[in-house]
Amino acid sequence: MIIGSHVHFGSEQLLGSVKEAISYGANAFMFYTGAPQNTIRSKINLDYLNEARKMIIQYELDPNHIICHAPYIINLANKEKEEAWNFSISFLKQEISRCEELGVKYIVLHPGSSVKLTKEEGIKNIIEALNIIVNDDSNCMILLETMAGKGSECGSSIIEIKEILDGVNSKNIGVCLDTCHLNDAGYNMDEFDNFLDEFDNLIGLDRVKCIHINDSKNILGSHKDRHENIGFGTLGFDTILKIVNNDKLKRVPKILETPYISKNDGDKELLYPPYKFEISMLKMGKFNPNLLIDIRNYYK
Ligand code: FE
Ligand code: FE
Ligand code: ZN
Repeated sequence: MIIGSHVHFGSEQLLGSVKEAISYGANAFMFYTGAPQNTIRSKINLDYLNEARKMIIQYELDPNHIICHAPYIINLANKEKEEAWNFSISFLKQEISRCEELGVKYIVLHPGSSVKLTKEEGIKNIIEALNIIVNDDSNCMILLETMAGKGSECGSSIIEIKEILDGVNSKNIGVCLDTCHLNDAGYNMDEFDNFLDEFDNLIGLDRVKCIHINDSKNILGSHKDRHENIGFGTLGFDTILKIVNNDKLKRVPKILETPYISKNDGDKELLYPPYKFEISMLKMGKFNPNLLIDIRNYYK
């Protein structure tokens, strides 16, 4: 099973990400090159990068299973303020260059929110922007993430995703599925095989390069986008287990983006990552109803 989680890209940059992933028993991971809400980025440190590369080889991690996630502030759908739209384009280009420098082959992107514009206009703007950004020569491929359809988000249906992909001249662009988003968008994950067939007919499963594995706090079609820990939400453990073991997505890295577990320590609230525990639960194939308690005990 190719599985990992969202990890930090901290002071040691990719080296820190690799170390964190290893500590969770992961063989894949996803990171942001800085805070997802802002555009402050540190220069890539070559010493750390070399150390990270050594560790990637030592632990036999496949570079195709290392994923970057573009920051949320990038919005290619809204062109009301042309300056902001141009900034999103240039910042995404910079992020792609950083990925190329790091040797990271995939960057997940939220297609964008149309805000006051119509969805059609939003999608047109996304396509226009991607045609400026995407080219055949880049070693880093953008993956459009399927969205929950919160607010004015574009890309919450696979028809919209197909529209965008069809509008982009280069084929150097793929898809990242997200199980929480798909549920919230109205795709029943209990019928995942049907969903994959539909996706395959419409877009082609070969375009899927990553899948975010999350349970959802909300019901089918809620358009909310609130992730839940594996087995504790609407999808449930058995449904998620079937998805991570689905033969058709065997080669695709599975990335957990489930919420940290909170624990009160006197007057402050501490947060702990659930990933080591969720990964082992999925590898074992058996739901642990005491997962949250076990995590709180482990990190004391
Ligand atoms: Fe995302
Ligand atoms: Fe996601
Ligand atoms: Zn989400």
